[in-house]
Amino acid sequence: MQNTAIRPTVPAVYRSYVTPKGRVAWRSGLLWDQFDAYLFDIDGTLLRDPGRVHYNAFSKACYEVLGHSLSLEPVTVAGSTDPRILRDAFAAAGIADETWRPHQSRLLEAICTNVARDAANMQLTVMPGVVPTLRHLAALGKWLGVATGNLESIGWLKLERTGLREHFTFGGFSDAHEQRADMIAAAAAAARDDAGVDASIVVVGDTPFDIAAARANRLSVIAVATGRSSFDHLLEHAPDICAENLEALLAAKCEEQP
Ligand SMILES: [Mg+2]
Repeated sequence: MQNTAIRPTVPAVYRSYVTPKGRVAWRSGLLWDQFDAYLFDIDGTLLRDPGRVHYNAFSKACYEVLGHSLSLEPVTVAGSTDPRILRDAFAAAGIADETWRPHQSRLLEAICTNVARDAANMQLTVMPGVVPTLRHLAALGKWLGVATGNLESIGWLKLERTGLREHFTFGGFSDAHEQRADMIAAAAAAARDDAGVDASIVVVGDTPFDIAAARANRLSVIAVATGRSSFDHLLEHAPDICAENLEALLAAKCEEQP
C-alpha cells in the first residue's frame, strides 16, 4: 500500500509525510510555499499531451525542411530542450552537425508551425493539483513563471489551450538555449527582474534534469513525480522537496507543517 506507509528509503535529511493524495518529502525547515518566485516546468509538471503533437512535429518539420523524416525514438526527450532534442536526434541518425546546423533556425520554426497547425489534435491534460497550487501561490503574492525546454510559441500555446496562461507573468524558453541550465539561468534572471535581485527562486520540475539545472544555477528545486520519473528516483537526485504530485504537496501544507 504505497500511500499508507512511509518508505524507509527516504533519506534521514528529509521529513516525509503520506497524504491521501500521495507522498511528500522535504528537507527539514523548508516550507514549499515560502519562496519569492517559482519557475514551473511545463511537460510532465503542469500538463501532458498523450496526443504527442509536439513530439511528432520534429519529424514533420525535418521532412518539410530537409526532405526526410527524423526519429526521436533513440533520444531522451523528458527534461531536455527542443534544440537539444533536435541535435540528439540528428546525432542518433548519424547525420553530421555541419549537414543540418545551417538549417537549424528553419527546422525550429517548422516545429513551431507544425505544433500550431496540429494544435487541435493535442490531448492536453493538466496534472493533479496544478490550478489550486498556482492559486495558492498567487494568493500569497508569489511571482509565477514557466521555465521549459519548449520553444516559446509552443510553451505558451500549451498554456493557453489549458487555461493556465493567465497564472504566469514571465517565462524562460529554449529558443536560444540548447542546455537546460542556460534556459533556467535566463528564467531566473527574468524572475529577478520582477521579484528583485535578492529574491528566493525555486524550480519546479519532473525530471533529474530539472534538478541538475536548478543546482547548476544554485537554485532550490521542488521535484514532482507526475512525469516519467518516480518519487523514489527523483529523491535519489536530492531535490529540496519531492512530491508525488502537486495535490499531495498542497495536502501536506494543509495537514502538517515542517
Ligand atoms: Mg518536464
